[in-house]
Formats: sequence, C-alpha cells, structure tokens
Amino acid sequence: MVDWNVIEEKWQKKWDDAGVFETDPIEGKSKYYLTVAYPYPNSPQHIGHGRTYTLTDVHARYRRMQGYNVLFPMAWHFTGTPVIAMVERLKNRDPRLLQTFLNIYNIPEDQLHELETSVGMATYFSQEIKLGMQKMGFSIDWRREFTTIDPYYSKFIEWQFKKLREKGYIIQGSHPVGWCPRCGNPVGQHDTVGDKEPEIEEFSIIKFRHNDTVYPAATLRPETVFGVTNIWLNPDVLYVEVKVDGETWIVSADAANKLQFLGHEVEIISEFLGSKLIGNNLTNPMTDDEIPILPATFVNPKNATGVVMSVPAHAPFDYVALEQLKNSPKQIFEKYGLRQSEISKLKPISLISIDGWGESASVDMVKKMGITDQNDPKLGKATKEVYSAEYHNGKLRSNTGQYANMTVENAKEAVQEDMISDGHASTMYDLIEPVQCRCGSDVIVKIFENQWFINYGDQGWKALAHENLNNMEIIPKELRREYDHVIDWLKRKACARNVGMGTPLPWAPEWIIESLSDSVIYMSYYTVIKDINRIKPDAEKLTELFWDYIYLGLGDVEAVSNITEIPITELEKIREQFTYFYPLDARHSGRDLIPNHLTFMIFNHDAIFPRENWPKGIVVNGSVLMEGSKMSKSLNNIIPLATAIQQFGADPLRLSLMITAEPLKDADFSPELAKSIGDNLDKFYTNALQIAAIPIEDEIEYAEIDMWMLSRLQKYIKEANEAMIEMKVRKTIHSALYNLNQDLEWYMKRVAPQKLRNERKNTIQYVIRKVLETQVKLLTPFTPHLSEEIWEALGNEDFIAFEKWPIPDEKLIRQDTEELENIIRDSIEDVKKIINVTGITPYQISFYTATGWKWKVYMKALVLSQKGRLDIGTLIRDSFKDDELKARQKEIPALARTLVEDVKKTPVETVKRRLDMGVINEVNLIEDAAGFFQKEFGCDVKIYNESDPWVEDPANRAKRAKPYRPAIYVA
Ligand SMILES: [Zn+2]
Repeated sequence: MVDWNVIEEKWQKKWDDAGVFETDPIEGKSKYYLTVAYPYPNSPQHIGHGRTYTLTDVHARYRRMQGYNVLFPMAWHFTGTPVIAMVERLKNRDPRLLQTFLNIYNIPEDQLHELETSVGMATYFSQEIKLGMQKMGFSIDWRREFTTIDPYYSKFIEWQFKKLREKGYIIQGSHPVGWCPRCGNPVGQHDTVGDKEPEIEEFSIIKFRHNDTVYPAATLRPETVFGVTNIWLNPDVLYVEVKVDGETWIVSADAANKLQFLGHEVEIISEFLGSKLIGNNLTNPMTDDEIPILPATFVNPKNATGVVMSVPAHAPFDYVALEQLKNSPKQIFEKYGLRQSEISKLKPISLISIDGWGESASVDMVKKMGITDQNDPKLGKATKEVYSAEYHNGKLRSNTGQYANMTVENAKEAVQEDMISDGHASTMYDLIEPVQCRCGSDVIVKIFENQWFINYGDQGWKALAHENLNNMEIIPKELRREYDHVIDWLKRKACARNVGMGTPLPWAPEWIIESLSDSVIYMSYYTVIKDINRIKPDAEKLTELFWDYIYLGLGDVEAVSNITEIPITELEKIREQFTYFYPLDARHSGRDLIPNHLTFMIFNHDAIFPRENWPKGIVVNGSVLMEGSKMSKSLNNIIPLATAIQQFGADPLRLSLMITAEPLKDADFSPELAKSIGDNLDKFYTNALQIAAIPIEDEIEYAEIDMWMLSRLQKYIKEANEAMIEMKVRKTIHSALYNLNQDLEWYMKRVAPQKLRNERKNTIQYVIRKVLETQVKLLTPFTPHLSEEIWEALGNEDFIAFEKWPIPDEKLIRQDTEELENIIRDSIEDVKKIINVTGITPYQISFYTATGWKWKVYMKALVLSQKGRLDIGTLIRDSFKDDELKARQKEIPALARTLVEDVKKTPVETVKRRLDMGVINEVNLIEDAAGFFQKEFGCDVKIYNESDPWVEDPANRAKRAKPYRPAIYVA
C-alpha cells in the first residue's frame, strides 16, 4: 500500500522549495487570476469546506497547464460576527461547542484559553486552516496572505467606502433590518443559525374591530379582504391587549414585543390565552360583515401579529382549517362555546377568477393534493401555487365593488392604499420565515434610525450590475437567472454595526463596517499587498490618493510618492501588479453566497472600477453531504479536513470530493468512497510504475489496433476538454480515468498475443506509455501529488504541474478504425452470449462473413437512408435494378427487411462513414484478431466468407451473415 502522506509531503516540499506557485507578472504571458472566498477562521475546516477550495485549486491547476500565468491567493476574514459569536460561546463554556472543539477537532484543552479573544481565535484557526490547505496541495501564492484587520486593509476599505459615498451609493436613513435583540446588532446571513438570510416583507395590517378594539390581521394579500369568512386565533398561545399608538389592539405576545422594535409606542394592558376570545364577532372594515373569531392551531404567534384573516376561497390553509373545524367532534364546539350549525354555514367566498380554473383556486388545489389537515406540510406548496396563479392571471369578481375586473396585481395595491387612507389598515415589517441569530435568539425586524446603508436598490447601479453580469461567464450556466433575480431584488443593505472587529466608517467612526460589505473588492488587494508589505509604508499615509493611483491610475505619481514616502518606481511596480492581474477571471464560492456576497462583488466592482476591470466569471458549487445527510455538529458526522487528509490521503480525498457530483449538485461523501478511490489510485500507481520500468526504443510501427487505441485516447481527451470548460469535473475524471481505463484494458487484451512477437513489443509498450502519460496529465489538477510522482518515475525532471494540458490530436482520430474494431468487440460479445446460453466449452469457433451481394444491398440501404428514402419496398425495387441481385429474387426480400431495420437504428454519421468506407474485408479483419479470440476462448478459430467454396458449415449458420455482423458457430 502506498503511503499517500509521504508522497504528498515530498511534492509539497519540492513545490515550496522551488516557489512554483508564487506568481508575478510575466511580460507577454497571459495571466489567469482566480480567487475563492477567504474563510472566517472561527473553527477548523471540515470536509464540507474542502470541496469549494479543491474545485478552485483544480481550476487553477488546469489553467496553469493551459499555459496561463495563474495567480491563486488566500487570506483571512477576521472581521464580522462569526468569530465573535464563537468566542462568546467558548467563554460561556457552551457544552456543545466544547464537545466539538475538544472531541471532533481535537484542539488541546490547554490551548483553549488562547481562543478566548477574537484575534486569538482567528489567529489560531487561520493557522490551522492554512496548514490544511497546504496539506491538500493547494497551489496558493502564500506571499499575498493578509487578514482583514491589518492596518493596510483598513485603509483600503476606507477608500472603498469613500468611493461608494462619492457615487451616492451610501445613504443614511430609517430602514427595517434583521435584528438580534440579545446581541443588539443587525443580522445578516452570516450571523444566523444555518446561514439563513433574514428576508423582510412588508405585511398589510387590516383592522377588524369589536367596538373600539382592533384585531390587526396581517396579510400579504389585502385584496382578499372581500372574501373573509372569519378570523383565526391560536387558542393555545398567549395574546395581549395593548395600547399601540393610542389604539387598543389584540395581538400575540410575541407581536407586542416586535411592534416596539418597529418604532411603535406599546403599552400592555392584559394577557390571556387566545381561547378566551374564540366565538366573539368582529366587523370587516371593507364589507361591514359580522364574522366570528375561530380557533386554528396553524396560526403561528411569531408570524406578524398572530391574528389571521381567513379567506378559504383563496388561501388553502384557511380552507383546510375551516373544513377541519366543521368536522370536529361536538366537544370542540362546546369547549369554545361555538354553534356547529353556524359554523357549517360558513362557505368560501370567491372573489378572484382565473381563466381555465374553477370557482375557487384554493378549494381545487386542496382537493387535488388531497390535504385534510391544517398542519400538513404540503399546504405551503399549495399556497404558493394558488398565490402565484392568482397574482399573475387572476381578476377580481363583481363582489369587490369598485375593484371588479381589476387584475390581482393592480387590485392589491389599490385596496391597500384605500384602506390605509380610510384608517382601516396599516403596515408592519416582519420576516417571511423565522430565523435565529447564532446566539440562539429569534431574529426580529427593527426599524433602524440613522443607519448607514449601501443602496443596492439604485436603478442606475442595478443597470451596471446587469451589464457586467451579461458579459460574465457563469458556471454552472443554469444559475445565470438567479444572479439576475438577485440584482433586481436587492434593496438597501445595512453596512455598519456598532460592535466587532473591522474598519470604522471613515465619516462616522462610531460605526464598524460589517463583514459582507468589507469583503467585496478585496480580490484587487491581493495583487498589491505583497509589495506594500515589502515596502512597509506608514499605513496612515495610504490615503485615497494612494489607492486612486494604484487602482485607477489617477493623480500625479510624484505627488503620491511625496505623500506616501514610497518611491515612484515602487508605486509603479504596485500598479503594474494590479493592471497585470486584473480583472479577476474567476471567483469561486459556495452556491449559498449568490444572494449576497457574489452579487455584492459585482455591484461594488462596477461602482468603483472602470469596465475593463470588472469581474469576468463566477464558479459556484453545491455542498457536501455525509452519507446522504447534511453535515452538522449535532449529527456528529463532521470529519475535520486534517483528520481526513491523514486518514485517506489528500489525493484520494480531492478525487472523492470532485468525482461524486458536478458543481451544481450536492456531493455525497462517505469514508468508504474515499477508501475505495484510494485503492483505485493505488492500483493505478502500481501499474504506472510497471509501465515506467520498461524502456522504449525508437522503432515504432503502428498496427490498426494501435491506431484504435490512440484514436480512443483522443476521444477521451476531447471529452475531458469539453467538460473542463464548464468545470464539469466529474465528467472529466470519468473520461480520463475510468472510461479510458476500460479501453486500455481492451487494448491490452487485444495485443496480448501480439506482445509475444518481438517486433510488436516496443510499439505496444509505446502506446501504453502514451496513454499513461496523457492520463496522468489529465489527472494532475485532481491528484497533483500522485501525478508528480508518476511523472518523475517516467523519467521527467520538470514538474507535471506545468506540463501542457492535453488537447486532442485530430490526425490521430480514426473513426474507420474504431468502426472496424466494433465488429470485433460485438463478435466477442456474441460468442460469449452463445457460450452462456448453450453452456458448452468450445473447441472451435467459426466466423462467417457476409458475401458480396449482401454488401451490395447493404450499400444501397445506406444510400437510401442518407437520402431519407429508406423503406423495404424501395430497397427491394432498387436491388432488382441490378442484374446480379435480380438473380437472387427469392433471398432479397428477407435480407432487405433485416437490413432496413439495422440501418434505421444506425446513427446518421455512422451511415455516412460506412458509405465512405465502402465494402470491408471482414475476413482479413477477423483473421488479424484470431490470436486474440483463441486466447480469449482457449480454442481454435476458423474464418470464412460465406461464399467460400471450402466453407465448413455443419450447422448451416453461414447464411445468417450480415455486413458488420458475421455469423458465428460455436462447437
Ligand atoms: Zn444574537
């Protein structure tokens, strides 16, 4: 067994000693610049992280072999809440965190105290992660490493924010933001449990009344107020009577708390369970109808006000809950003092019609999906479908008064505006779905006064982002629409907070720039930081003038030099690094960052840099599952990267992470998979060493079968190339490793008898070596260490990492040869089948190839097929025009029937090729392979043309011969 770690360390040291991945501008050489999201060093990396970074490294190595001067740098995201949240949990001795740190990640207990400050933890884990990346063999230029709390970085971020503000993209104002009441901070995707984006929606609050008491029902569909049959309250949860801005409201206790954060004056008068109010009647402000309050358990008190208006004709939840109530046992009605006869009179009131749908979309959908319980998860889907159909195609019916005939889309706004101006409604911000802060507290919406925002809602800015996106390469390309959607949908984004590590807002230093805003153009910073670190200027002197010069070429270099005390030549050198490597060619990240980071990156580049420096591509990938399940600390199925490298080896691990799925899909990892891939690579390596040990002489003389192998090799090179363009790494690996290996195995079998002949030996060995060399190159991005090791064994002195990426040699593509070889492959299969069916141990196999007149008919069939006129009648008539064939009047129709069937199944390009190839001498072909057949089946092989006078045909099989399909007799 090979010791992967030994090979890996050997090559990592060699790469490192030679500094091969340290990249600087090379005049006249094209560059390729790619980056991947820098990690938050708040815990060690596990296998789940390995995928995104490995894919980036594969990409880097592939481009390098294509001849590009590739830059792949790395840095550390210290700023933001992820590190702080983790430090807090550690200081609080959170038992789950301790268990993870001590038992899963094996952090020595006596080192834990080092992790109790933000910088301490971030430093500790960044070193740990770096070591992991080095052991994975990532081809990173480490000279460009930095952290986001470095003084130079802060000056750079200040420059970014001043630029954004100059362009009018930073605004201050009141705005709803996701907020953690415990942490006292705005909350973004990176701050939440499960990385869920807190999505804020503005709900309509419709004021149903009982005397002077308001029941504020929250809805996203105010136009359906005309179809309300009742109000739902959850009988089992806590409601409160509160004074809200002078009115008396009934809302859930959760809602009362949230209303305060939304800027309302709230005073609690009394508390009670919802059940207390069931059975009371309310007035619908738009119809003046009296409607009852009824109980429903689906009502979530954390959702908006906890008061829900029931529109069974258009809301599946309401319909199911109402039907369920109607069918409840008597005790339920008694419990709430409800009259069953009254309830059963409540019928859906349809107020929206859709062409082609029934009276009520909701009722139809519920029946179609067979839903009977208000807690059935299918209701979510039913609701979405009904809403979407009605929103896009619905019109209001005549029972909606002045809104009749309006589209739902228009009526929604009109009804809402009218109700608000009449005092019947107001609005309330809330999250569409509940989200938890990393601290464990529920995220709520807070109206933020004087908050600083980046205004991604700016229409002109959105236009730039769309323009940039249109010119970008998006991989996987299916996701392009998702980016477009996010660009349209983004509004304001709170960009500062009052705690944490990071850069203060330059004009309001009490605010710290938050971590999804200080990480959007730092790809440019890698290009310049190496020289800045070498020159070590005073950070305070790196004012806007400096960054304007190195990034935008603005200003007078002499003046910049005077201010920064950096020599002009050095300034020019820094600028040259930027202009050489920018624009960014590919940004890698996980797919979950499309709604924020990746799209923010597009926006911010477009705001600050001229078009020629806008990013050119994004590559994202799905996540990693562990044996089919999501990886999570609670499931205890996390494997730290460091452990996995030690256990499986970096190359088997890299290959496992890449081979299980294309980028768009989630990859399913399992230890068994990594082990079996390790075994495969082990075999590949052993075999390669054997091949490498056999010397090759100059005399090469190809036989057909050699040409076949080389032609197949081109096919797989071609496939691998096509796949790599879209980073379809799974397909590349399959072509390069598994499919190619199968053909190589076939070739080895075919030439095994020939190898005994001295004059063939050398050529065969040459072909095998050629295949191996290509294969090793194609695998280099995936298994870089093993590839170097084999490359060295093959007698090469340079690193394979910089060898030329294989491209197909068109001259070696021999479709004809492959076509002929297929006859042999099919024949082998036929013989095997016969042996299987008959169960005999053969002592002789006879092949009978088709005679001349059959070929004539076959050629005619091919011609007809190409003209699109192939049918049995035409083929027979065509054949009878030929005198020789006419003489075979009796045999032709049967043959024509089977040939038409065969040719119809033949692909167009094969038909064309076979026509070009004409009549084939199948006897010669099979005779060449006779040794192979003999060896395969351990018996005698005879080959006849069916019309040979000396044919031996005891079982009368010869007449079954067809072109491309010899008849076979096994005895
Ligand atoms: Zn919190």
